[in-house]
Amino acid sequence: MQIKTKHPSDHNYLLLKRRENTETMIEELYTNIYRIGVPLPGNPLKELNSYFIKGKESDLLIDTGFRREPCLKALQAGLEEIGSDPARRDVLLTHLHSDHSGLADLVVGRERKVFIHETDLALLHRFRETTLPEFRYQRFISEGFSRELLEEMYRTNPAMTEAMDSTACTFVPLRDGDRIPAGGYMLETLCVPGHTPGNCMFYLRNEQILFSGDHVLFDITPNITYWPGAADSLGDYINSLKRYLDLPVHMTLPGHRQTGIYKERVEELLVHHVRRLSEAYAIVQKHPGLNACEIAGLMKWKIRAASWETFPVVQKWFAVGECLAHLDYHMQRGRLRAETGSDGIRHYYENPG
Ligand SMILES: [Zn+2]
Repeated sequence: MQIKTKHPSDHNYLLLKRRENTETMIEELYTNIYRIGVPLPGNPLKELNSYFIKGKESDLLIDTGFRREPCLKALQAGLEEIGSDPARRDVLLTHLHSDHSGLADLVVGRERKVFIHETDLALLHRFRETTLPEFRYQRFISEGFSRELLEEMYRTNPAMTEAMDSTACTFVPLRDGDRIPAGGYMLETLCVPGHTPGNCMFYLRNEQILFSGDHVLFDITPNITYWPGAADSLGDYINSLKRYLDLPVHMTLPGHRQTGIYKERVEELLVHHVRRLSEAYAIVQKHPGLNACEIAGLMKWKIRAASWETFPVVQKWFAVGECLAHLDYHMQRGRLRAETGSDGIRHYYENPG
């Protein structure tokens, strides 16, 4: 019954079964633990890894995909093929992003629950309640982003337009260390703020299996951006990486794309951000008085666009957010300072001393 096949693109998968057809992409990775590939059409992330744990009394689905027809179709087809009964399905979310949470209220059992960290849950509600999300806008406007571009971004970014309906289900707010039983396993909540303020990984200690969400991705770098209410997202992220650097992990199950060797990847991500921090600092040193949009425009990005001016607006917003996280990190440590000009926009300078 157990076909132990190596995953073609990976070192540490214990793959029991792989089924592939044009409709669904399902892999049984470990006893009763499945991966369902949910396509994200037109999105650079390409695919979301949704994980499913089959249990005796209930099943647990970890992350879902955007609230969009092709995502729902693929996820439902996958769940059907595994033989999941919708009525006994709980949903567990690694974080609030819509590519993970978008379908949660549509695929959770009617009497069942959606688990998410309390901090991300509060943000989900906050984003819903704020019809004109000024509290998200404001920082970007004061950093040189134009209101027109921001409005276009909110109209077109699937993170905003394909979000779950957080009024349509019952939530269980999670805290660091909370344990969730599923399929004979015990999932331990490891809160790793950074990618979002309430971002979580889920860890099976006995099996050393880690659902790493978007905290540790292998062939892409997790986006770290400014968040309302978080003074130092990048500092939080780096601390989260360091906190679990030595976690014994046999198999990492990331939110997108391929897996790899956990500890090696965490070390790479730490080095990556040290480099990016130096890059942002050097730009401010060389060009004192720029605003964050201008600094972002001088940083290097892995995006197929002829120039900063031709960046798609959503990508521009991501880039500026990531630049802000790096500037905030230096500001928090007194290495940079910002002065608000008569135009109401913040300009960055090196802080001597
Ligand atoms: Zn994410």
